[in-house]
Amino acid sequence: MKNFIASNRLKFSFLAALAVLISLPTLVKASHSWGNYHWARTANPFTLKLGDNLTSSWDSYLATTSTDWSKSNVLDTTIVTGGTSAKRCRPTSGRVEVCNALYGKNGWLGLAQIWVSGSHITQGVSKMNDSYFNNAPYNSPAWKNLVMCQEVGHTFGLDHQDEAFNNPNLGTCMDYTSNPAGPPSNEHPNQHDYDMLEIIYAHLDSFTTVQSGTQKLPLGQAVAEAAKDQDVENRSEWGRELRNNGHVALFERDFGAGNKLFTFVIWAN
Ligand SMILES: [Zn+2]
Ligand SMILES: [Zn+2]
Repeated sequence: MKNFIASNRLKFSFLAALAVLISLPTLVKASHSWGNYHWARTANPFTLKLGDNLTSSWDSYLATTSTDWSKSNVLDTTIVTGGTSAKRCRPTSGRVEVCNALYGKNGWLGLAQIWVSGSHITQGVSKMNDSYFNNAPYNSPAWKNLVMCQEVGHTFGLDHQDEAFNNPNLGTCMDYTSNPAGPPSNEHPNQHDYDMLEIIYAHLDSFTTVQSGTQKLPLGQAVAEAAKDQDVENRSEWGRELRNNGHVALFERDFGAGNKLFTFVIWAN
């Protein structure tokens, strides 16, 4: 009898361990943030403004992306009138500016840039380069959805789920691919992206970096404000290369005092 109980106990702890192992992959897979950068806010869900500096041919892609990401339980996005010219695409404090233009054959198809102060995102831009999007293979809805969704996703603090070019699609726009249409399609977020957002935005802050009308800027943002007038469109202004596999890359520029600019790049091939 004793042996029977002992062996049952063993079986139970084995099953318990198995249950833990089975539930782990959800946590492990949802790990595509980097550095835990996030918008400061005092409540969830918070609403992030996406400034529309797009030509009409891109508007439906932004609408799709805004709807997709707003399915998150922790954040909503709302499309507002753009605060900059598309060609310059200067950031606006407390929100994201989304732009498309003929930026030239400078190597990048899409860019996402976030300015951070400490661990908090203070402003962001997402840029689509029509110098490549006007031509095959990029002049397709699948490529436009992938890049728009991913470059806006980066401005929330999300990283890629996968950076390999030719492996099977994960079914998320945060997975880089040579075949965005799939199947499965990489044109929209997947559940892991929403899980990751819930992890990044689990805590609340005592102040906000998100614009909601006129507000006083939190401390530290003044430095980021000073930095925003610099031209950051080209490789030479992105600072240190953190990683680069020839398809996607991440750069970090340090302005000092905890103020940094991160640039996510999708290269045109
Ligand atoms: Zn925080
Ligand atoms: Zn990216």
